Amino acid sequence: MKINFKNKKALVRVDFNVPLDKEFNITDDTRIKNALPTIQHILNQGGAVILMSHLGRPQKKRMDDGGIDVAKFTLRHLVSHLSNVLGLEVKFSPEIVGGVASDMASSLLPGEVLLLENTRFESGEEKGDEALASKMSKLGDVYVNDAFGTAHRAHASTTVVAKFFDAEDRAFGFLMKNEIEHANKVLNNPRRPFTAITGGAKVSDKILLIERFLDLVDNIIIGGGMAYTFAKATGGQIGNSLVEEDRLDLANELLAKAEAKGVIILLPSDSIAADNFANDANLKEVSSYEIPDGYMGLDIGENARKEFSDVIKSSKMIIWNGPMGVFEMPNFAGGTKAIAFAVAEATKNGAFSLVGGGDSVAAVNQMGLADQVSFVSTGGGAMLEMLEGKKLPGIKAISG
Ligand code: AMP
Repeated sequence: MKINFKNKKALVRVDFNVPLDKEFNITDDTRIKNALPTIQHILNQGGAVILMSHLGRPQKKRMDDGGIDVAKFTLRHLVSHLSNVLGLEVKFSPEIVGGVASDMASSLLPGEVLLLENTRFESGEEKGDEALASKMSKLGDVYVNDAFGTAHRAHASTTVVAKFFDAEDRAFGFLMKNEIEHANKVLNNPRRPFTAITGGAKVSDKILLIERFLDLVDNIIIGGGMAYTFAKATGGQIGNSLVEEDRLDLANELLAKAEAKGVIILLPSDSIAADNFANDANLKEVSSYEIPDGYMGLDIGENARKEFSDVIKSSKMIIWNGPMGVFEMPNFAGGTKAIAFAVAEATKNGAFSLVGGGDSVAAVNQMGLADQVSFVSTGGGAMLEMLEGKKLPGIKAISG
């Protein structure tokens, strides 16, 4: 980071949106751990750190009387764990802006850490309110954004606040910088053959991604529920599989565009079909184009796994977003697992692989393969939007 933090108060936006159990214990502290290098760096240089984050969706889950459920969504739940991992006593401000927050911020000494209350307790946060952002900015001398997971949101603490700091007084944290660099590596320096793997439930969620990939990659592998909309569009019988009837024309258009651009789209030739959306359903391995009535494709079949894996293993650059089947159920996780192993093997043989976007990240973690791919993104929606070619507001706000 270009800023010298000595004797500076750094206002740092982190993503501490961690999962909590019923007693408000943190069940997975990955997001906190991911922010530690940036926090430690500032402290080591002799700065003080003022942390801002959201937790959950308090505005959407207001109580019956319309009030914020402070007991549930307060960031106070994180203080003791954060103090433990940092090895110092983290101070907590019960408000984001206001007299208490500014008194606590102004009396903060170098080497100290102050955590502010949930930014989403302020109704102006998600609206990107300028007055709120201006008040936030007064708490620190410099601003650091390390919350890649919310970089696609133009909120007060993630984006608007940055404009109240001069260009030399605002910076990306290490996590955010790393994410941006890896996404840019894929987008700006493609190595060929370049294969994109997409999966998950819906074509409609991935249209922009597929369209963008048509200008970028050599092969697009399509698995998961979305494959059946393509199978039906090309005249297949898909039984009771997931389908978006209103996207059949679009699916054909995407196939035609791919052909015109010389991009190969691979659809699963066969599927594991089930007579029920349940792990213990009766199964049939069938052609993805001849799924009997009463059955639904819930995973890619053995032939598809082999065909997809062969293409993946001969690729030099790979992006993966979305599972190949209902991987949460063990009987339909085989396809996603086979693809994860193929991506790991390609990576071992020198390919660059990026796994980004919610469920494929969960799948790679679940299979213990996260350290066998080149990069696993921490930002689901944010990474997806970057790969779609959008300029994220949280990034623009820092780099201009
Ligand atoms: P997405 O959030 O769009 O990446 O979708 C992920 C979800 O798609 C996961 O919860 C999967 O269980 C689900 N999914 C994957 N394949 C299928 C399928 N063949 N049928 C129904 N749901 C699927």
